[in-house]
Formats: sequence, structure tokens, C-alpha cells
Amino acid sequence: MTEKRYDAIIIGAGIIGNCISYELARKGYKTLTVDKLSGSGFGSTAGSCAVIRLYYSTPEGVALAREGYYYWLDWPRYLKVDDPDGMAYYKNTGAMVFKSEVNGNLKNVKKSLKSLGVGYLDLTPEEMKQYLPNPDLSSFYPQKTMDEEGFGEPTGDSINGAVYLPESGYISDPKQSTHNVETAVRNRGGDFMFNAEVTDILKKDGRAAGVVLRDGTRIHAPVVINVAGPHSAIINRMAGVEEKMKIKTRALRVEVAHVPSPEGVDWEKDGVITSDSDTGVYTRPETGNHILIGSEEPKCDPLEYVDPDDYNPDFTDQAKTQIMREAMRIPDLPIPNKTQGIVDLYDLSDDWYPIYDKSDLPGFYLAIGTSGNQYKNAPVVGNFMSELIQYCESGNDHDKNPFQYDMKYINYRLNIGFFSRNREINKESSFSVIG
Ligand SMILES: Cc1cc2nc3c(=O)[nH]c(=O)nc-3n(C[C@H](O)[C@H](O)[C@H](O)COP(=O)(O)OP(=O)(O)OC[C@H]3O[C@@H](n4cnc5c(N)ncnc54)[C@H](O)[C@@H]3O)c2cc1C
Repeated sequence: MTEKRYDAIIIGAGIIGNCISYELARKGYKTLTVDKLSGSGFGSTAGSCAVIRLYYSTPEGVALAREGYYYWLDWPRYLKVDDPDGMAYYKNTGAMVFKSEVNGNLKNVKKSLKSLGVGYLDLTPEEMKQYLPNPDLSSFYPQKTMDEEGFGEPTGDSINGAVYLPESGYISDPKQSTHNVETAVRNRGGDFMFNAEVTDILKKDGRAAGVVLRDGTRIHAPVVINVAGPHSAIINRMAGVEEKMKIKTRALRVEVAHVPSPEGVDWEKDGVITSDSDTGVYTRPETGNHILIGSEEPKCDPLEYVDPDDYNPDFTDQAKTQIMREAMRIPDLPIPNKTQGIVDLYDLSDDWYPIYDKSDLPGFYLAIGTSGNQYKNAPVVGNFMSELIQYCESGNDHDKNPFQYDMKYINYRLNIGFFSRNREINKESSFSVIG
């Protein structure tokens, strides 16, 4: 039986796993990234909408997104690589976030943006119209499912404005960006194993000691990091740490629809990202002059928790409901007969905030629960996870004295204890993809 040794094993070659590998490799660790799929970014990262936006309701959320934004702006220089398969790139579009009862008319968001010096415009309903093709600005809140009476009918009041952030956009191809990071890791001497499923976590002297693969291969390392996306809970069970965590993770099935732009509109070129919590959908321009429509999980929609290895990959009425909700706002939106888009999984934590932490098994670390909104933060997460690992491995107790991370681009110190596996559920959360 083969036996190999590394300084750190990263389980999962998604965008976050690869960014952690990159930062550890830069610090001189001999890394191995293992993935049960056949390439980098083939898991939930491939389905990501890759929206880079700065609006979050807490200063921590804004700071993290702001920091991440700079990494994406400087992508090739950050990775110091020219991937022969092509480099992913950031496309700026701007983002318009609707004020609504659901988001407290963006009071906390505006406060958090101001505290970080992020520029935005406060738009009146009349000013909003220049950002959307022929919109209907009626309120449709509270949201309904398609079979409920009154679905699609205005409920009286009109939207009372929005916040527009010019610094927002998306990454051209999330899978490609993850391959870019793999190339950078390999340049630093890091290894990858694909089609390699982890089936157990090795332990020795009360610590993590490596992984076992399905074919029986045992690979040794004193540091093992769970970055398995929607499979994170399964890996935690292998390590025996799940029951000791206050915040848990599970896989949530989601649908994203792609529809053509209204006739005569070049949304791919002129479109902005929208977050409309009045109708309960977010959108971004999509290649092929399409509009991509995701859900902001309005209360009326059931959340569908699934087994990440056994779920329905086909569209249900959910994607159609999202299209109809967007058509309330843009009445000229074409409604295709056949739904296009993606069905994928979020790795959902109990309060929709990620867990970036150590665990109760020394040497076993967690970068999980990324709940549909952490693609944008991946490079920053890679950086602070590598520093957190060094902090813990040199004898510091992160549970008692949480690691304080000094951001590289902005002058902000982030308490990594904010993402603890043992935090109380964050009641400030929107309990949706908005975070
Ligand atoms: C539909 C959708 C839309 C999203 N939109 C956005 C957005 O607009 N903006 C944003 O910031 N974020 C968004 N996100 C979230 C973001 O994409 C994720 O947070 C991010 O991609 C997670 O990356 P990851 O590396 O942690 O996980 P993943 O990409 O899921 O990678 C985990 C990897 O672990 C591997 N793995 C699992 N189990 C094992 C095992 N036993 N052995 C070996 N390998 C294993 C899997 O094969 C997989 O490749 C979205 C997510 C989804 C699903």
C-alpha cells in the first residue's frame, strides 16, 4: 500500500481550497490538495454566480468583501502566474440594491459601507429607472409561491429607493479562476490528486495525522483542512468533530435560471447586478446576453436540504418562480418554455455565515459553511486561514485568544473568532444568501 507525507493536506480543490493551498505553499508548506472530482473547481464553485459585491449588513462582512475585491482586481499579479489555459477576469457592472422591509431599508448596510469608506449613491425610485429596462417599481411584498392567490400582483406601495454601488461585478469564469490558482500552487511546488476520494481522517496522539483514500492509500500530514464544500459535514463526521460544534453545516439544493434579455436590450453590456428583496431575487448579466436569476430565499419558499451525493439535478418549479418574480420587476422579460441555468448546492451553516476555524481535533481545520456567498472572499480566506494555521500550530489557543487578522489591502483588523464553530447563531443574519 502506498504511503506519502506532506506538511498539509487540503480536502477539496474548489476556489477556497485552492486559495488556502496557494497561501500555505507561499509560506513554504509542502501541500497536497485532494479532490474526488477530476479537476479544480468542478464542485459547487463551478455553479457559482461569482458575483463580487460589497454590500453586507455588518462591517466585518463589508471589510472581507472589500479586501477580496482588491485581490480579484489584481488577480494575475497576486497569483504571479500566466495560466496557459487562460486567466479569469473581473468584469465591473455596478450593483443596485433595492430598499425594502426585508432589509430594513438598508440602514445597517449603509452604516457598514460608510464605516469602511465604500462609495455608493442613494437613489430615488425615479433615479432607479435609468438602471433597469422599463421597470415596474411596485411593491410585491410579501412574496408568494406561484400557486398562491395574488402571485404577481402589486401589494400597494411602491419601492422607496435603492443603493447603487459602482464597485461591483462578477468573475468571468469561476472554474477557470480555480484552475488559475491550481497553476499558481503547482508553481510553488504544491501537489494535486484528482479522482481521489477521502474516506477517513487519520489520527495519531490525539491529533489529525492525514487522510485515507477510497483505494486504501494513506497520506500523512500533521495538518488537514476540511474545504469540502457541500460535503463538509461528512468530512467532519470522519474526523469526529461534528458533534462538538455549536454551528453545523448541511447541503442546500438551489436553482439559478438564465433567461434572454428583453428585446432590444443588451444586458450583457449595459446590465447591473440587482438585489431585489421585495420580489426575493438577485440578478446579474450573463454571457450570451442573458440575465441570470437567483433566489434570496424569501420565507414562503421551502429550503431543500439534501444528501450531497443524491439529489435531484433537474429544475423544479423553483427556477420558474424566480423567473416570474423577475418578470414582475421587468415586465418585458421573455419567459422561455424550457428553463435553462443550473441546479447546485450551498454548504449551508445554521446562520448563513461561514465557519473559518480550528476544530476540537488538533491539526484539523475548517473552511466550510460558505452558504452561497463566499466565492468573492476566497483569496482573503486563503490568506487568513494560512495565518490561523500557523497561529494555532505554534501553540496559541484560538478559542480563548482568537486570532486577529490584519488585512493586506485595507487598514482593517478582523477578529477571526467572528467565524467560530462555537459562536451563538448570528441573529443579525438575513438567513439568506445575502448573509
Ligand atoms: C449556485 C451558487 C451560486 C453562488 N453564487 C455566488 C456568488 O455570486 N458570489 C459568491 O461570492 N459566492 C457564490 N456562491 C458561493 C461560492 O461559490 C462558494 O462559497 C465557493 O465556491 C465554495 O468553494 P469551496 O472551495 O469551499 O467548495 P467547492 O467548490 O464545493 O469545493 C469542494 C470540493 O471538495 C470536494 N470533495 C468533497 N468531498 C470530498 C471527499 N470526500 N474527498 C475528496 N474531495 C471531496 C468536492 O469534489 C469539491 O470539488 C455560490 C454558490 C452556488 C452553489
